[in-house]
Amino acid sequence: APAVFTEAEVYQQNFDPRAYLEEFYSLKQGRLEALVEQNLRSLFKMFSLEELKGDTLIDVGCGPTIYQVLSACERFQEIIALDYTDRNRQELEKWLKNEAGAFDWRPVVKYVCELEGDREKWAEKEEKLRKKVRQVLKCDVTKANPTDPVSLLPADCVLSTLCLEAASKDLPTFRSALRNVAGLVKPGGHLVMVTVLGDTYYAFNNQVFSCLRLERSEVEEAVEAAGFDLKFSEVQSCLPGDVRQDCEAVLSLVARRRAALT
Ligand code: SAH
Repeated sequence: APAVFTEAEVYQQNFDPRAYLEEFYSLKQGRLEALVEQNLRSLFKMFSLEELKGDTLIDVGCGPTIYQVLSACERFQEIIALDYTDRNRQELEKWLKNEAGAFDWRPVVKYVCELEGDREKWAEKEEKLRKKVRQVLKCDVTKANPTDPVSLLPADCVLSTLCLEAASKDLPTFRSALRNVAGLVKPGGHLVMVTVLGDTYYAFNNQVFSCLRLERSEVEEAVEAAGFDLKFSEVQSCLPGDVRQDCEAVLSLVARRRAALT
């Protein structure tokens, strides 16, 4: 485990989006990583819940990835993607604009299409997603308004995968980041999270990034304390023996933001 917390500026300088994608989201011997498939199944399950639909969805800490919005894009009309680093946002834009050299998400898109019942509609889904992502903006989850100086209208849904545990140096910071993220959700709107549990680091490209070691109850309590009611929560274990990270399990949850107290 790294001795020091990975500050956001270290992400800005050292997080190589291309290396991250190759390490965790590319095919290995013709297969996706078991963890990726598991997360795609959880996201499919959560975005099949009746109440998870609406106009706008904000993806917080999107990184250079799109897998997390593949099921979501069937249920929301507009998507806004946020991340701290310039290079992650550029890598995402490259795929959105279908530019040469963009990462090949087809195996992942096909996997999700198969979950949804028709593997053959992958090209249609890619086109749909490219149309629905309307903005890609900078954000810092440690700020009260994460998109400051831009103020976004609160969304029907906020999604965040594998971000807050990377962006928070301790539990109080994690809880405060969740309160900041809560401000992006309408009262009555939903939060969808995928968070690793028991993890202290992840590594790729000979670089180590710190991760806040969390327990299920700590995440669930932080979500409730940030003004949400838990609607769905599921823990799935990680395969042991992965040298690239030490995660024990993955928590997937859906929570609904309570109406503001008057
Ligand atoms: N959501 C993607 C990326 C996760 S990697 C996925 O599921 O694979 C962690 C991400 O958190 C990186 O993209 C990094 O840029 C972002 N991040 C780190 N600190 C942050 C902060 N303070 N505010 C917002 N994003 C941050």
